Amino acid sequence: MTLRLPPLVGVLVLLCLPSSSRAAERPARIVVDPGHGGDQEGATSPTGLLEKDVSLQVAKRVRDHLEEIGAQVLMTREEDQSLPLPERVEFANKQRPDLFVSIHCNAMPTRRTRARVQGIETYFLSASASNATARAAADRENAEAPASRGGRGDSTLAFILHDLARTEAHQDSSRLAYAIHQKLISATGGADRGVLQAPFYVLNGVEAPAVLVEIGYISHPDEGSRLARAEYQERLATAITEGVKAFLAEVRRRDSPKPAKVAAPATP
Ligand SMILES: [Zn+2]
Repeated sequence: MTLRLPPLVGVLVLLCLPSSSRAAERPARIVVDPGHGGDQEGATSPTGLLEKDVSLQVAKRVRDHLEEIGAQVLMTREEDQSLPLPERVEFANKQRPDLFVSIHCNAMPTRRTRARVQGIETYFLSASASNATARAAADRENAEAPASRGGRGDSTLAFILHDLARTEAHQDSSRLAYAIHQKLISATGGADRGVLQAPFYVLNGVEAPAVLVEIGYISHPDEGSRLARAEYQERLATAITEGVKAFLAEVRRRDSPKPAKVAAPATP
């Protein structure tokens, strides 16, 4: 069935959708968040490589690649400094970004699992974790959160998360996670540990599509040393950028006011 709108309605549609058409013209604004920093070292590789350093190195490469494609990038930190999780969220929201990407390395707790488990996981927020892996990752990354808000089973977090699934940003977080994850796996050939959901403190409260990428298990002997190599970091950063690009293209296609474009020339 074809629906023909009178020209005036078409013009009204155009006027009602100024933000999305503007969004297609201005550069995308992206907050990149390197995990940990300062005395918060994060996870450690068998050779003593620190997650806080790898996350910053990869984040800077992501920033450079995103700037190359014309995005405006804001980093939560650019140096080896300690930065509380609530301040990362506050910083992100002040920028009113189109999206938020937090970069981390994963780790296993025991000698046997450290030797065995490797691969890439991409997360978006949910009140409950997808599985035990996701639960463990969120617990580890939330360890720096203030005791009153970030802990396991915390009521404030649960309250905020209550109607999360209804928000558009949450659906877009899922899209962003899949877009980035797909590119990461095909670019690196890394073990695909999936797109997962978990209650990450740093994703909660970010008023934009937001994901946390565990770019690899720094605790694994091989993946840990790969993560230190510039060439591999470049591959990760390029893939994350490609994922962001694919997501932005998808969102802009979806949000572009197609009927209004046809009606626009009729405006006197
Ligand atoms: Zn981390």
